[in-house]
Amino acid sequence: MAKHWAEPVTSVLRADGQRVVDLDPSTTPGFTGDKQLGKKLLVERGLVLSDLQERLFANGRTGDRRSVLLVLQGMDTAGKGGIVRHVIGSVDPQGVDHASFGVPTEEEKQHDFLWRIRKRLPVPGQIGVFDRSHYEDVLVVRVHNLVPPSEWEKRYGLINTFEREVADAGTTIIKVAMFVSLDEQKRRLRERLERPDKHWKFNPTDITERAHWPEYQKAYQVLLDRTNTDYAPWYVLPADSKWYARLAVTELLIDALTGLDLDWPKADFDVAEQLRRLDES
Ligand code: ADP
Repeated sequence: MAKHWAEPVTSVLRADGQRVVDLDPSTTPGFTGDKQLGKKLLVERGLVLSDLQERLFANGRTGDRRSVLLVLQGMDTAGKGGIVRHVIGSVDPQGVDHASFGVPTEEEKQHDFLWRIRKRLPVPGQIGVFDRSHYEDVLVVRVHNLVPPSEWEKRYGLINTFEREVADAGTTIIKVAMFVSLDEQKRRLRERLERPDKHWKFNPTDITERAHWPEYQKAYQVLLDRTNTDYAPWYVLPADSKWYARLAVTELLIDALTGLDLDWPKADFDVAEQLRRLDES
């Protein structure tokens, strides 16, 4: 278990029948330290993550088919972008494939909802990061009735089948649902409005969506209840404390990569002979 955790982050955050309406996003489950320690650890653990990621990448270059996929879901301002910058930002960019999914384009609308997702799955050796994902198709789509209920209702099963295929093909899937409180969201939106350097992040519909929070909570509840599987587990992440959310996701990735038991690939040449040749050159 990682230092300064009372319980492994994988068990403390694992979706396990929690009621979304009862979640307290201001908590920092399992972590025994404070913000200062959390921030310091993020740097330290980022180095561990970076080493593991390099091993994954190296193995991918030598025939290993495995990869990792981090799915990030959360309401606006939940901090998905911060996870990408501060967690994923600590590893070598060539080993990361970041994909964000917004309102589907005209072309995407011509295909089934998983079409655009399949195209962005990580190739062997990569850590794929989905900033929003196929889950939007049972979140915003469900809340706003963008397709009939008979259509979105089928998607939970389709998603499970899809994720089973992805996992069977060698991808370790980690799904993180980030929860920010309505108060904290208000604070973050206010900051976006008050700071000119943050205006670009603000979208007036973010305020409209706040009125739909109960429906989103319901949609998140159903999603957690119906798509939390052993091969593609959900983690429920309280996200009012940005430092905690970032540290927790770092630990989830470290755990997943450690589980792959990655050695450095063996040289496919005679090292002694190459050293001799080098000396003579
Ligand atoms: P972000 O808000 O994550 O910074 P964008 O400004 O691109 O990124 O917003 C993405 C928007 O696209 C969100 O409001 C999200 O709900 C919406 N979206 C994503 N996927 C879908 C989908 N399948 N159908 C409709 N809207 C979607």
